[in-house]
Amino acid sequence: MSRTIFTPPPLITIPVVADEARFAVRRVFCAGRNYADHVVEMGGQVSTTPPVFFTKPASALVSDGHDVPYPRATTNLHHEIELVLALGKPLQQASEDDASKAVYGLATGIDLTRRDLQAQAKAKSAPWAAAKAFDHSAPIGPITPLAGPLGPLAGAIRLSVNGSIRQEGDLAHMLMPPAKLLAALSELFDLKPGDLVFTGTPAGVGPLQRNDVVVGSAHGTEGVRFTVV
Ligand code: MN
Repeated sequence: MSRTIFTPPPLITIPVVADEARFAVRRVFCAGRNYADHVVEMGGQVSTTPPVFFTKPASALVSDGHDVPYPRATTNLHHEIELVLALGKPLQQASEDDASKAVYGLATGIDLTRRDLQAQAKAKSAPWAAAKAFDHSAPIGPITPLAGPLGPLAGAIRLSVNGSIRQEGDLAHMLMPPAKLLAALSELFDLKPGDLVFTGTPAGVGPLQRNDVVVGSAHGTEGVRFTVV
């Protein structure tokens, strides 16, 4: 390996359920506006707002059970519970069938959002990077491998704060289901093994405070848990 001028950043990896081997992360993609009830609560119109894509750096991931520091530059940190697709195969301008075969496993993730900065960005038609792609903005649970191709998903996705349910939806209610979402994303980007795709959040997003204990789960995964400090 070539000599480098400073110590290279660490490889970002996530635990895999019942496997000592870990999932090495390449990129983190996120879909926004993928559940009708959340589009409505954010003031949008379902018919005119197909999912949008944005990214977070892999370094934003926080492994299950680790504390999440309340970020600077915001007074309105929001939780968004999401199902995460972990890719094990490349996808480029893929069919939904190929997309369903490329999913290695599923996890629960939280798309933490500086909602005040996002509102400012929206008002100026500016990028969302400061609102979405900050450090520690993506807590994620372990990845549960799939036994076969990803089929249609249904089942609860929910998030509680200090034991009170804040978000509760159903994976079947995604406006663009996972295989279709991956196919659409692969029209824009060359997807590779190690890529993660956050698939959007149902209604009920809201603010977090220091000392809040957040527990999230999506059907078919181990869930995720963290404390805001
Ligand atoms: Mn989101």
